[in-house]
Amino acid sequence: MTTIQNCLFCNIIQGNIPAAKVYEDEDVFAFLDISQVTKGHTLVIPKTHTENIYQTSEDVASQVFARVPRIANAIKQAFHPAGINILSNTGEAAGQSVFHLHIHLIPRYDHTDGFNAKWVTHNDDYDTNQLAHIASDIAAHLN
Ligand code: AMP
Ligand code: ZN
Repeated sequence: MTTIQNCLFCNIIQGNIPAAKVYEDEDVFAFLDISQVTKGHTLVIPKTHTENIYQTSEDVASQVFARVPRIANAIKQAFHPAGINILSNTGEAAGQSVFHLHIHLIPRYDHTDGFNAKWVTHNDDYDTNQLAHIASDIAAHLN
């Protein structure tokens, strides 16, 4: 596992900074987000430092995402939320403030629970042809 000295989450993993631990194994650590957007709001992180999803190897991504269903189900059993939002803010423009990969598990209780992820849809702006072009632009960079 690679840790970075001045990384907040690496320091939480190492026990240098206290956190409310939910889960730990040799590759993955999970703890309560200090902001608790909703009750049970949990962060799942790899023990290997990686800045965000762009930098993350398939191995590390597999480790982190493999733990998500179990932790999400534990939150579900503990607090019986109506649903759960799972997201990872990537880059400052997307709201990333801590640059150690983390997956937010945000239990949802009702529309007034404090979480807001509203977006505007643009389905009328693109026809089938344009969608095919966008898809091929992305696919061209996959190898
Ligand atoms: P993001 O803004 O997506 O990068 O998420 C970073 C999250 O880390 C925020 O939701 C913060 O509330 C949370 N956070 C910051 N410092 C701590 C800490 N010491 N312990 C637990 N969570 C923290
Ligand atoms: Zn780190």
